[in-house]
Amino acid sequence: MELLRSRGIPVWVMEPVRGGKLARLDEKYEKQLKALRPEESIASWAFRFLTGIKDVTVILSGMSDMAQVEDNLKTFSQDKPLDEKERELLLGIAAEMSARNTLPCTACRYCTSYCPKGLDIPELIKLYNEHVFTGGGFLAPMAISSLAEDKRPSACIGCRSCEKVCPQGIKISEMMKKFTQALQG
Ligand code: SF4
Ligand code: SF4
Repeated sequence: MELLRSRGIPVWVMEPVRGGKLARLDEKYEKQLKALRPEESIASWAFRFLTGIKDVTVILSGMSDMAQVEDNLKTFSQDKPLDEKERELLLGIAAEMSARNTLPCTACRYCTSYCPKGLDIPELIKLYNEHVFTGGGFLAPMAISSLAEDKRPSACIGCRSCEKVCPQGIKISEMMKKFTQALQG
């Protein structure tokens, strides 16, 4: 990102509220956030987090009704960056939410040299996690479609060589199959 910035290239963030997934959270999380910022919407937390990242120059938020437009205008009309306590709370909630359905790949890449198909396994798991977390957003399908066909999850032959060396015990071949089916659906 720093390189892009130093070249004057804007860093855009798409789907800042992950297709609406971050605009509504579990009641217990919403209560925690509302306790700190009772006047602000849940969606505003995603924007405030992003505006605190200096490299981000453009935030592209899709809006589907006037209430969302008005809420976003309200958020961006005031510069109210998250403080350290708020940031920590938000990251803690994000970690809990991510751990629920996503796979705990650490991107150690121990597995990649064992794949006879040369798949970028950690990158595909990252996209799978994105897809699961957003309940099927467009970012992961778009990223997968930009790959050569022989580098997509569908190219996995289920040999499980990768699984023998994964310290996280991830069932990679199952993930590839599920991801392929999800992308077709
Ligand atoms: S199971 Fe799939 S991802 Fe794992 S090594 Fe075999 S082809 Fe590669
Ligand atoms: S070995 Fe496991 S944790 Fe490491 S990159 Fe591969 S899938 Fe992820």
